[in-house]
Amino acid sequence: MKEILFAKDITKIYDGKHKVKVLNDVNMTVNEGDFVCIMGPSGSGKSTFLNVLSTIDMPTEGTVRINGQSVYDMSEEDVAKIRYKDMGFVFQDFNLADTLTIRENIGIPLVLDDTAKEEIDKRTEKLAKELDIYEVLDSFPSECSGGQRQRAAAARALIANPKLIVADEPTGSLDTNNSHELLEIFKKRNEEDGIAILMVTHNSMIASYAKKLVFLRDGKIDETLDRNKLTQKEFFYKIVDITSKESQALFDNMD
Ligand code: ADP
Ligand code: MG
Repeated sequence: MKEILFAKDITKIYDGKHKVKVLNDVNMTVNEGDFVCIMGPSGSGKSTFLNVLSTIDMPTEGTVRINGQSVYDMSEEDVAKIRYKDMGFVFQDFNLADTLTIRENIGIPLVLDDTAKEEIDKRTEKLAKELDIYEVLDSFPSECSGGQRQRAAAARALIANPKLIVADEPTGSLDTNNSHELLEIFKKRNEEDGIAILMVTHNSMIASYAKKLVFLRDGKIDETLDRNKLTQKEFFYKIVDITSKESQALFDNMD
């Protein structure tokens, strides 16, 4: 399988009043068609890891390679290009521009890539129909529901046909129905087009859509779990087992 992202020996130290090692020698490979979910307790370094992997943040030490090329050997301009051409970002709080319409928000990666307006409109409308936000294309984010806003963010992430979707708690502000709708969109793109997905969530149900789970604890990879031939439901129960270890340990201490 074609390698999209490769990260080796990533260490991140925050150098404030006290030195905090947030990531400690972590590795990650994402190939075409992968769907990786990162889980872990709050503060375990999930967002920091995701940001380093997606070139938003720099590690203190380590290598990140995208499309076979080391990110820290590239010019700022080339890294920016990778971000809007090869990656699509989805965040918990949608991160849509309030002063732009849904249509304009979705088109941002293509505007950055100097795509012709007719082409942007064509692609935006096609995607909006698929994601059921066609009716709100000329509305502003404030006039839309949370589900519509997150589907608009998903459309923006997909519009440039990226190789990788990077999503940090993408369902954190959504109700259950909208959460599953969003994950069905990711799943379809992953299965049909091979778009790789790298997602952080603390919700085991949402994590069960992935093909691989990486469990982070205290800045280190504590456990990885491949879905293989398991059904989504079977995978879900295994994930619950891993994520509930802390609580289980608390119960054991009470006995
Ligand atoms: P998670 O996403 O797993 O909740 P984060 O990656 O956001 O964790 O944060 C990991 C740790 O790093 C936390 O203890 C957090 O307080 C700390 N941290 C995050 N960003 C900064 C920063 N800019 N400066 C100092 N400490 C930070
Ligand atoms: Mg986080």
